[in-house]
Amino acid sequence: MRRWNSQPRCGTLYHRMGRILKGYETRFRWLLQRVRARRLDQGVQWLVNKARKLSAEEHTPLSSGLTRVYEELADRPLFRAANPRPKPDRFFCDAGLGGLARWLRGAGYEAAWKAGIDDDDLLRRARETGATILTTDSMLMERRLLRDRIIPSLWLPPTLSIAGQLRLVFREFDLQPGVPRCMSCGGELAHGDKEALRERIPPKTYLWLDEYFVCRECGRLFWHGTHWTRIVKALGALKG
Ligand SMILES: [Zn+2]
Repeated sequence: MRRWNSQPRCGTLYHRMGRILKGYETRFRWLLQRVRARRLDQGVQWLVNKARKLSAEEHTPLSSGLTRVYEELADRPLFRAANPRPKPDRFFCDAGLGGLARWLRGAGYEAAWKAGIDDDDLLRRARETGATILTTDSMLMERRLLRDRIIPSLWLPPTLSIAGQLRLVFREFDLQPGVPRCMSCGGELAHGDKEALRERIPPKTYLWLDEYFVCRECGRLFWHGTHWTRIVKALGALKG
């Protein structure tokens, strides 16, 4: 088993864990600031140490310990009630979060994404459109525009699955699933007439399904298939 918290075997591994740790430290700090905690540095360090202890006891990667400590803390009524963040209605996902952008659209939110976009372009576009930046890059979070909250943002641990990322975004901003949008371009979906669309529907699907949707923007055809089920499942787990 790989253990991120054991002695690093190579520079890359150490570097990666360093970035994850930095991301969590920022999140811990924000949580503590939210409840106006004093002595922030000690608080952050205490939480990191707690995560280290947890990971060592359970022989799990440090990232798992950090996730648990963060989630347990964020779930406490004191932290949930304190100064909730404004709910974003649109997101800009960094270059590595194309999968999350698609799922967010499926869950009813506008989510922009561009392959290979550089940081400056990402910041400029998010600012222009009033979007909340979602990123796994803790170095990006150090940029002044994000650090000073001029552009709202959320750092996501790079170790999470897409379902995990989606759950975290929903939990963090206390979101509810909306009317699904086109997973490809984010456009609105309109009900499609099954017979008129017959040639575009795979024959096996045509046999058992009656409800179809067409994107008003790009014209793509959708139905409640595998992706849909996975999104509903991911969000359903939030209620547990
Ligand atoms: Zn579309």
